[in-house]
Amino acid sequence: MLQGNKSSHPVFTEEMKKTHTILLPMMLPIHFTFMQKILQQHGYHAELLINDNRSVVNEGLKYVHNDTCYPALLVIGQMIDALKSGKYDPNKVALMITQTGGGCRASNYIFLLRKALQKSGFGNVPVISLNFKALENSPGFKLTLPLVIRLLYAVVLGDFLMLLKNQCKPYEQHPGDTDTIVQKWMDTILASWGENAKLVNYKNLKNLYPTILQDFASIPKNDEKKIKVGIVGEIYVKYSPMGNNHLEDFLLAEGAEVVVPGLIDFCLYCIYNGIEDRHLYGGKWLPYGAHKIAYRYFISKQRDMITAIEKHGVFDPPMSFEKTNQLAEQYISRGVKMGEGWLLTVEMAELIEKGVQNIVCTQPFGCLPNHIVGKGMINEIKSKHPDANIVAIDYDPGASEVNQQNRIKMMLANAGRNAIAESV
Ligand code: SF4
Repeated sequence: MLQGNKSSHPVFTEEMKKTHTILLPMMLPIHFTFMQKILQQHGYHAELLINDNRSVVNEGLKYVHNDTCYPALLVIGQMIDALKSGKYDPNKVALMITQTGGGCRASNYIFLLRKALQKSGFGNVPVISLNFKALENSPGFKLTLPLVIRLLYAVVLGDFLMLLKNQCKPYEQHPGDTDTIVQKWMDTILASWGENAKLVNYKNLKNLYPTILQDFASIPKNDEKKIKVGIVGEIYVKYSPMGNNHLEDFLLAEGAEVVVPGLIDFCLYCIYNGIEDRHLYGGKWLPYGAHKIAYRYFISKQRDMITAIEKHGVFDPPMSFEKTNQLAEQYISRGVKMGEGWLLTVEMAELIEKGVQNIVCTQPFGCLPNHIVGKGMINEIKSKHPDANIVAIDYDPGASEVNQQNRIKMMLANAGRNAIAESV
């Protein structure tokens, strides 16, 4: 059951904003680095956690019930591992965790985390809920509109750099060139923002798109044809290298080009669900109207990015979320919105529409909703696209990495055979 601030857990107060370091769990290195900076500009001593060794899993296993979904185990394990590292004063540290407000366990990770903190002797560490549904308030943390808008810019920018990175790295003639350019642009943008949140200006960012695109285009590349492999799945294991055993690195090493749908699609999916709720169940106009405004605003930012990529003409832009949304009608009801819901099914269809037939569907242990809309929909997708080559891979603390890799290698072998058959 959801708890309010009247319960006995420690609360992040206004004074703590000045004295406490807020630890953020890692998911997407590029995006979250921008987000960390934006939080710092808004006066929070935010620090992104980069510990990703086996002790993270062990701490998770120790303090989270073992039938809890794997992302919760890793996020909580990463935080406890950081607290135990001795790097932070437990009296001057707070933790931030997202709370989706949906029907799934992601709304309740915060309670699992507080329980784990109690058990591990860090019961005095306050936890801040990052949520858009007024589920929990921390007096020292305010999710203001300017902060939300700037976090959106971080998402779009992160998606943009991630897409360019994925399309350049497999083909670079000099290993490391792409990572150098990614780092260069991250450093340049972060330096231009300085300490002043007002410098996170969308017009300036948008004006940078052509220069960034040209810089990535100028990386010397081989012209060999690589097999494209899409990655979809539950949001944490899809994106987090720790969650998916560094899947992107593995696919790259196997000679594939990785295609990963952007984080903005997930944000738009969450917003669109607020619109769909009114279509399905009725409800008040105000939240519906607010979701519609937010939806249009987010869509416009994705459209700017797509337009810039199309205009430049070298890289493949992502599918616009409006098209992704329409694709749902062919596969699944938009009322299915537990976990990644209809988006997960449609992301597979979207990749296939874009010519990416080979897909790894990442599934965390304990995640029933995403097993239904991911693995459970593969036959439906294959009935419409018989050439689809999809493998569902489960991730959990005890899963054998060798088994996971062998199954992915079989998928890649099928992809190779299909590519030869197509070229004959
Ligand atoms: S969608 Fe899956 S991983 Fe996410 S909270 Fe729900 S059960 Fe856990």
